[in-house]
Amino acid sequence: MTNSNSATLPDPDFSWDPNANPPIAGLRPHRTKSYRLEPEISGNKLVVHNYGHGGAGITMSWGCAQEVIDVISSRGFSQNQSVAVLGSGVMGLTAATLLAQLNLRVTIYAKAFPPHTTSNVAGGQWAPSLVEHNDTHQFNRILRRAFATHSAKLGQGYGVSTRLNYTSHRSPNFDIVPRDVIREPQFFQHLPFGHLRSSGFAYSTLLVEPPIFLARLQKDLVTAGILFIKKEFLHIAEVTALEENLIVNCTGLGARDIWQDNLVKPVKGQLVILPPQPRLQYLYSGHGYLFPRQDGVVVGGSEETHFVDDKPDVQMCKTILARVRSVFEDDAHALTAKEETVPDWFIRNK
Ligand SMILES: Cc1cc2nc3c(=O)[nH]c(=O)nc-3n(C[C@H](O)[C@H](O)[C@H](O)COP(=O)(O)OP(=O)(O)OC[C@H]3O[C@@H](n4cnc5c(N)ncnc54)[C@H](O)[C@@H]3O)c2cc1C
Repeated sequence: MTNSNSATLPDPDFSWDPNANPPIAGLRPHRTKSYRLEPEISGNKLVVHNYGHGGAGITMSWGCAQEVIDVISSRGFSQNQSVAVLGSGVMGLTAATLLAQLNLRVTIYAKAFPPHTTSNVAGGQWAPSLVEHNDTHQFNRILRRAFATHSAKLGQGYGVSTRLNYTSHRSPNFDIVPRDVIREPQFFQHLPFGHLRSSGFAYSTLLVEPPIFLARLQKDLVTAGILFIKKEFLHIAEVTALEENLIVNCTGLGARDIWQDNLVKPVKGQLVILPPQPRLQYLYSGHGYLFPRQDGVVVGGSEETHFVDDKPDVQMCKTILARVRSVFEDDAHALTAKEETVPDWFIRNK
C-alpha cells in the first residue's frame, strides 16, 4: 500500500538533562539458537522452562504463557494443585495469571519484583527483536496468541495501545511476523515528518508500556490472592526442595546460573527517557528508536555483547540520543553518509 499525501507529524523535543532524567540500562536474556520453552523432570518435580526471550519478552509473553499452560494441561493436573512460578518479570507474571485462571494455587518466588526487573527496563514495542527460534511453527503460534491477548487488553488499563511505527527501511523484525498479525506496511514516498523526508514504511503494531502493564498484572494477581515470596535460588537443589511439585521457571538471565545454561548470553541495552510528550503518538525505529510513552519518551539504544556491568553510561547515551536526533534533522543523503560512523554497539534494524 502506498501513501504519498499525509499531514506532517510533530518532531520530538530531544532536550535532555541526564541529572534530572538519568538513563537506564538492562541485560536482555538472550539465548543462542532459541528461547527455552520445554518441560524437564527434575527428581519428582515437573519443571516447565520459559526463559531466554532476548529483546522480545514483552512481545512474546502471553503466547509463551499459553504454551506453558498447554504443556501442563497435556500432562494433567488437579484443581487446587500447587504450582511455583520462579521469577516475577513479564514471563512469570503472565504465566502466573493464566495458571491462576485454571484454579491452580500459584505462588511466585523471585529475588526481585517490579519495578526492579529487566522487564521494567523494556521499551515496550510489540516486535520480536533479538530473539532466536528453532521451531517456526511454535514461534508463529506464540506471536499470534501473544498479539491477540495483548490486543484484547486495549483500553483496559494495561498500558496497551495501537501505534504506527515509521521506518526508513523494511524492518526485519516485523517481516518475520505472520502477515495476519502484522500487515504489509504502508509505503511512503516521503515519510510524513518535517525533516525526515526519505521514503519509508509504517507498520501497524502495539505499544505495551511496561511500567503500566507489569504493575497491573501484579495488582491483578495480588487481588486474586496469589502469594509473592522473595527468594533467591542459587542451585537446582534449592528449586527442587520447594514443596510444589509443579514449577514454572521464568528466571530470565537467572536461569543461566541456576541451570548452568551456557546458551544464555546477556545483551546489554541502554535507554534515554525524555520527559513525556503526549503530542507524539507514533513510534520510530531503524538504527536507534523512539517510543513515546505516558511516563516519558524512550530513546534507544544499544546492543552490547561486551560490557563491564549493567549500569548505564551517560556518554554512550548521549551518542544514542544524538544519533536518533540526527534522523529527525537530516536529509536522507546525510543519513547514508553517517552510516559508516555508527559505533558497533549501536542498535541496528530495531
Ligand atoms: C533496553 C531494553 C529494551 C527492551 N525493549 C523491549 C521491547 O521494546 N519489546 C520487548 O518485547 N522486549 C524488550 N526488551 C526485552 C525484555 O525486557 C525481556 O525479554 C524480558 O524482560 C524478559 O522477561 P523475563 O520475565 O524472562 O525476565 P526478567 O524481567 O529479568 O525477570 C526475571 C525474574 O526472575 C527473577 N530471578 C532471576 N534470577 C533469580 C534467582 N536466581 N532466584 C530467584 N529469582 C530470580 C528476577 O528477580 C525476576 O523477577 C528490552 C530489554 C532491554 C534491556
